[in-house]
Amino acid sequence: MGWLLLALWTFAIGALVGSFLNVVVYRLPRGMSIVWPGSHCPACRRPIAWYDNIPVLSWLVLRAKCRRCGAPISARYPVVESLTAAVFLTVGLLELFSGVENLWGQIVRSAEAGIVPHRPMPELVATFLVDVFVLSTVLAAALIEYDKGRPPVRLFVPALVLAVAAAVAWPQAHPTTRWFPADGRWAAVCDTLLGLALGMTFGLASAAIGSTVRRSVARMRQPAADCPTATAPAASHTQQKVDARGTQSRLSLPSVRADPYWLSAGCIGGQFGTGAAAVICGGALVAICITAPLRRRLPPSAWLLIGALVWLAAGLR
Ligand SMILES: [Zn+2]
Repeated sequence: MGWLLLALWTFAIGALVGSFLNVVVYRLPRGMSIVWPGSHCPACRRPIAWYDNIPVLSWLVLRAKCRRCGAPISARYPVVESLTAAVFLTVGLLELFSGVENLWGQIVRSAEAGIVPHRPMPELVATFLVDVFVLSTVLAAALIEYDKGRPPVRLFVPALVLAVAAAVAWPQAHPTTRWFPADGRWAAVCDTLLGLALGMTFGLASAAIGSTVRRSVARMRQPAADCPTATAPAASHTQQKVDARGTQSRLSLPSVRADPYWLSAGCIGGQFGTGAAAVICGGALVAICITAPLRRRLPPSAWLLIGALVWLAAGLR
């Protein structure tokens, strides 16, 4: 019963964070303040009372309509709140409630009853909090990418600083991979910094390779469009050629600027360590490059988020 209450509590906190992410995802790319003004109806501009702002539940009670003016409220709000709550609950079940003896560990010792955390509770809570902070940041980035926006660099700063600071201040809260050759504070810091660098490198590589794949697929798909008509004047033909060469020569830098998901990869690598950076970010790199032509359907940061959850579920933390 205690565990059920804790699970509900985790879900509720996740939904509240999701409610905040809705605000972040809308306002941050538009350069707006995320604190002021408070939540208001976009149609009638009136502030939303706290009892109409309860994640998921208020949307259901109000039947997706503003209480004052009846304007429809997008289903995106409860969906994002539920998604965030699901991430919190998943990480909670995998780390907090099972004492990092997660899915794989539980299957192995399913015969033994009871849950005995093999690490002290404060450490588990610290790991859990930093993990959900980093994953919420990556989820926000994925949602901005889904909206075809560009996640601003300042979105990632708190998560990156927190991941490094947590490893320095409380190395026990940063469990290093089992195969990591050292232990203690410096091992945790090295693991974080190496993971960060590795994640960012993979992210940058996949941005460059992904955009090259997309470009060549686009070129293969429209040979007819590139072919100038017989009546086209010679001058515009030359101009077209110059433009084509111009876009080809500045391939990497704008695509890197337009795809800052290498910062998401850095967040994942920094928080989950070197091994996770290699597997999750390397796997995401392959997935992003393969799906580059249809990439907008699943944003790159979403691949990283799913990879991190699978990593946790596999008990590799
Ligand atoms: Zn309204």
